[in-house]
Amino acid sequence: MKIYTTISGFFASVLLFFFTYTFVSAFQVEVSPYEISPGDAFIITVADAKTSPLPDASLNGKPFYFSSCGKDCFIAVGAVGLETKPGAYTIHVSVGEKKTNVDLVVRHTRFPTQRLTLPEERVFLSRENLKRVELEDERLKAIFETTTDRLWRGKFVLPLEHDVTTKFGTKRIINKKKISVHRGIDIKGKDGEEVRSSNSGRVVLAEELFFGGNTVILDHGQGIYTVYMHLSKFNVKHQDIVSKGDVIGFVGSTGRSSNSHLHFGVKVLNINVNPVSVVGLGL
Ligand SMILES: [Zn+2]
Repeated sequence: MKIYTTISGFFASVLLFFFTYTFVSAFQVEVSPYEISPGDAFIITVADAKTSPLPDASLNGKPFYFSSCGKDCFIAVGAVGLETKPGAYTIHVSVGEKKTNVDLVVRHTRFPTQRLTLPEERVFLSRENLKRVELEDERLKAIFETTTDRLWRGKFVLPLEHDVTTKFGTKRIINKKKISVHRGIDIKGKDGEEVRSSNSGRVVLAEELFFGGNTVILDHGQGIYTVYMHLSKFNVKHQDIVSKGDVIGFVGSTGRSSNSHLHFGVKVLNINVNPVSVVGLGL
């Protein structure tokens, strides 16, 4: 009987060891903010990851990109699209053989509606302009699908310190007919005011687009891009490396715009993200 107890105790220990090793994570994972709106960014921080490989994490099968945030610490920026349904979502995280899950809650959010009037030729496009927009869209798509090494450092900042006139996610009814969704924020600005880089990065586009007018796109690495539209003038050119706060251009009203302002957009892993949420991340 005593031998039996010892043997079963031994097997129980082996099982417990196996269970602990396989299913219980020895690292800490935090998602911040834990509760977000559709179109918001968030950060995943992995701490006490005492193994050499970078963590892997994914949401609905889409991976995140981690980089170091100190000893045994890794950080990744993620986002959910504007069309995400409210509810709880599971992020799967692994470091080497160890795995764990963390929850992310997407809350129900009401986005505002705005009615505006624009010149008809900027709303209903001629065949020639439609062709131009299609070609520009293809180029932008190729840019945003590319993931490069991390260039961003610390927090993202607003490129212009004025009020937001049109919020992210605003449903726009243009000329009473066409409906579009605002996938960035509009910041009030005077003609010629300086527009500053939101973080360190590389200029991957600095040219005139049909809708955006004079547009600058910065690649910050790890799938994070910032977009600056309707500029009167550029202060950078393609492939320039910029630091956070560098003047990249000046406020204007070029492209599809009815007054001087800055349209500021952010892409995270090819998702249009609310720039206000990115600026609020504790990076
Ligand atoms: Zn805008």
